[in-house]
Amino acid sequence: MTDPIRLGIFGFPVAHSKSPQMHRAAARALGIALEYDRFEVAPANLALEVKAKHDARIDGYNLTVPHKEAVIALLDDIAPPARAIGAVNTVVRTDDRYVGHNTDAPGLARSLEEAGVRIDDARVVIVGAGGAARAAVVGLADAGAAEIAVLARRPEQGEALVESLAHFVDCILEAAPLSEADWHFDSGTLVVQATSATLGSNPRAEEFAAMLPIDALPPDAAVVDMVYEPLETAVLTRAKKRGLKVVDGLGMLLHQGAIAFEMWTGLTAPLDVMREALRD
Ligand code: NDP
Repeated sequence: MTDPIRLGIFGFPVAHSKSPQMHRAAARALGIALEYDRFEVAPANLALEVKAKHDARIDGYNLTVPHKEAVIALLDDIAPPARAIGAVNTVVRTDDRYVGHNTDAPGLARSLEEAGVRIDDARVVIVGAGGAARAAVVGLADAGAAEIAVLARRPEQGEALVESLAHFVDCILEAAPLSEADWHFDSGTLVVQATSATLGSNPRAEEFAAMLPIDALPPDAAVVDMVYEPLETAVLTRAKKRGLKVVDGLGMLLHQGAIAFEMWTGLTAPLDVMREALRD
């Protein structure tokens, strides 16, 4: 019998992560031996625990909050997009070197393409300027977006994002204060909600959604919320009411996982099985 592929996810906390169920279901469906564990590790212990897993020759792993940035210093190499984004969510052992990748970026693009949203030549408005927004900029620019405007409530955060990514992307990239959203929504073809404001049962999510000028968007615009808990966020409810095309964050979660699975196993990810496992 061949040894199982050994994988896992580092996070703090990590009990909520849906990645184990998604990858285990994929492995079962393909009949391959694969172990995928949760590694709950506090930030102060990350270096030690990552080294222990490398010493044990783990095949690969994911990272979630708050480790996506800190892990960069602990790896042998970083793929250029992950380096530009400044965050690694997937590590692959390649020729005995641990290489960091960011599959959130292509994961978002694939989820939109699957939902029939056109990215090529799109005028994108990203709300938020944290790690998820950085991945969205790289993923959508790579998929052919023509213009991307990053709207941040702290304008300096948006400006810093644009300054650090401008050399890496091949599209018009600009930052603007969130208070100037009207002007950008007016001509936007795709809005990406990339803040944590719509997450969980945040009582201010409605207020945040009401503040976004959804009514200013053209009728053929699409709105995606990267948050997937709840699946229908306050922003998507508003966009739906206007009759706009909406995409929830589950597709991005699925596709970032599918891309990682393919990197680790060399096999085509069984998307339907993985999607079902996420919905359970
Ligand atoms: P960060 O904490 O790095 O960034 C959050 C951003 O949202 C910051 O710019 C923050 O601004 C802004 N923000 C938060 N609350 C508000 C608000 N009320 N109004 C305006 N701006 C606000 O988080 P991430 O970028 O890592 O993640 C963002 C969300 O994306 C997460 O909640 C997560 O659920 C989702 N996500 C989904 C993925 C998927 O696979 N579907 C993958 C990755 C992330 P400030 O700094 O001023 O607070």
